[in-house]
Amino acid sequence: MPGGHGVDIERLRAGDRRTLARAITLVESLREDHREAAQSLLEAVLPEAGGSLRVGISGVPGVGKSTFIEALGLALVAAGHRVAVLAVDPSSPRAGGSLLGDKTRMERLSRSQAAFIRPSPAAGTLGGVALRTRESLLLCEVAGFDVVLVETVGVGQSEVDVAGMVDFFLVLLLPNAGDELQGIKRGIVELADALVVNKADAASASQAETARGQYESALSMLHHDAPWRPRVLTCSALEDRNIDGVQAMLEEYRAVAGDSGYIARRRAWQNEQWMTRLTHELVEQRLRQDPALAALLPTLQRAVAAGELSPLAAARRLVSGLAQ
Ligand code: GDP
Repeated sequence: MPGGHGVDIERLRAGDRRTLARAITLVESLREDHREAAQSLLEAVLPEAGGSLRVGISGVPGVGKSTFIEALGLALVAAGHRVAVLAVDPSSPRAGGSLLGDKTRMERLSRSQAAFIRPSPAAGTLGGVALRTRESLLLCEVAGFDVVLVETVGVGQSEVDVAGMVDFFLVLLLPNAGDELQGIKRGIVELADALVVNKADAASASQAETARGQYESALSMLHHDAPWRPRVLTCSALEDRNIDGVQAMLEEYRAVAGDSGYIARRRAWQNEQWMTRLTHELVEQRLRQDPALAALLPTLQRAVAAGELSPLAAARRLVSGLAQ
């Protein structure tokens, strides 16, 4: 039976994809009454979440993310897994926007009964895209999906957000290492549990090998204290080459990092970070929404700019105002 939130939890638990889609629509809604309904749904099912391997997949547009996810998703389904794909596209104005508007994306995977594919809309509210994607991910787990692939475009904050909500972060790269080594400068490589050089088919096989070697040596300079050492692989998503190698790596990770408690520790740490971020956002929201504080802000800013008040004293005045 649907609860006050209009979502039939039994059907959700049974893995019904339409119910899951409806539940995600609810958590994505910007309406205040929907937000409350979504919260009550999440509270009801949250204890049942957590049962998937959460995999983030990132890379610049054109690197082959959707081709790769389809190939990997089909391989995982063939091995008996249920696979959910969530796509984070900060540039998309709404669900079904730029990233997934193209109906041909992951067409074969979307026809599989054991797969669920969902784009996320951009969002400008508390927690933003990250909030919706986190909550959608939990709902996929409640619906029994045991692998959740979170796709994001390799630009900016969304990449960092996704890395902060998954158990395994995989970065897809192009074989022309020269440009792609930029990823090292951007710090993305430091977030990665695996770097996968795609398009290693006939034309670019040797380039892919060269790139692999360069990434190997770049990774070897990073310090790791986790039980998992990041790896570099090559594959061709288009020709389905070494996708089984990627799949085997994920299975190995699930075994090694799961058994050692590393995934649980990583999730605990991610939750702490997430709480800190939400706290900051809530404080900022309160500052903006409280009329007295909003009025005080420009006065304090002027006083700080004029050197009449120290930045610390001004910040303290604002924060002490919050407590009242
Ligand atoms: P996305 O923008 O990262 O999602 O990339 P797409 O999956 O849409 O792929 C971009 C283009 O690269 C498409 O024309 C794909 O057919 C092509 N592509 C993807 N994977 C491979 C591959 O392994 N080898 C080759 N040669 N082309 C690929």
